[in-house]
Amino acid sequence: MSLVQESRINVMTPWLGADEVAAVTAVIESGWVAQGPKVAEFERAFARAMQAQEAVAVSNCTTALHLALVVAGIGAGDDVVVPSFSFIATTNAPTYVGARPVFADVDAATGNVTAATVEAALTPATRAVIVVDQGGIPVDLDAVRAVCDPRDIVVIEDAACGAGSTYKGRPVGAGAELAAWSFHPRKILTTGEGGMLTTSNPAWAARARMLREHAMSVSAADRHASLVSPPEEYAEVGFNFRMTDLQAAVGLVQLSKLPEVVGRRRVNAARYRGAIAGIRGLRLVDDPAYGTANFQSLWVEVGDEYPLDREALLVALADAGISARRGIMAAHRQPPYRHLAAAGSLPVTERLTDRTLILPLFHTLTAADQDRVVAVLRDPRRDAA
Ligand SMILES: *Cc1c(COP(=O)(O)O)cnc(C)c1O
Repeated sequence: MSLVQESRINVMTPWLGADEVAAVTAVIESGWVAQGPKVAEFERAFARAMQAQEAVAVSNCTTALHLALVVAGIGAGDDVVVPSFSFIATTNAPTYVGARPVFADVDAATGNVTAATVEAALTPATRAVIVVDQGGIPVDLDAVRAVCDPRDIVVIEDAACGAGSTYKGRPVGAGAELAAWSFHPRKILTTGEGGMLTTSNPAWAARARMLREHAMSVSAADRHASLVSPPEEYAEVGFNFRMTDLQAAVGLVQLSKLPEVVGRRRVNAARYRGAIAGIRGLRLVDDPAYGTANFQSLWVEVGDEYPLDREALLVALADAGISARRGIMAAHRQPPYRHLAAAGSLPVTERLTDRTLILPLFHTLTAADQDRVVAVLRDPRRDAA
């Protein structure tokens, strides 16, 4: 039997069903599809689930990061420490506000910045640090805040991948002044596109709510509610970063499934771990001592003792109909940011970005699918021509 005949296994497939369809249908039938009551309801439910004081729904996580920097007062002349080992949006956000991204290296076990790597990247102009729960592995936020709080440096948590992960017994992001979340289909919860900004600072939340809607003094929903709307004012230059009620209705259903989704992912991750444990040269990312991961991206590092390098292993998997993915990118290698990192200054980032790959992991992944992936990892040359 040739594996090529079998169906394709994707790296990720969102778990959407009849409940999401019904929720969207109800919103369409209500006649109010833009930002309105469903967005407000989703914000309240999300804040409760993540133990956040305030939640402000936005169009995606990139706009949440952008707003986080604006409300924290970060701008031209400021340095913002970020991991290069992250999706490009983490580095683009400081660039949008005219600040300079400064790259910190990451820990080899977690793929996250640490107090030590952040401290090494601080400059006299550092006013903010963006930490990431990379691939859903919780970052050691308290340790980074212990370095930053005494220096009046705001720590923003990029929790794009983090919904359902825990840090010291609480949801990730709960201990952050500002946290940004993504509902892109590649993440744990999806609304198609969508994001959330959570914060412990009510003044920042109020300003973010205004800024996401053109900095309008009267929200579109409030304006619509009154027959004679009051004249609105635009106190500063705002944005259109709104989420729609269609998306929020899906988000409410997805949020209610989060514990089940994370539970299943952790079972499947443990199953991979057991199967991969005996394979020389492969190392699977794991929970850190201080928290639990949702394994949004379950990555494996391909070491020197493995018979193939990462690129060849990706080809072997693809030949078997398995769509694995290269690991997390390194922003400092991209054209807009190449000038910001000295050669060799981010050794762990470069090692991980060159040697890791992300295994297929999603809610409906079957044991048989996992066995197919593991069979290739065990014997990657079996099907080679
Ligand atoms: C996906 C991702 C983002 C961007 O999220 P969008 O909702 O697509 O804007 C930002 N940061 C990290 C770490 C991500 O993984």
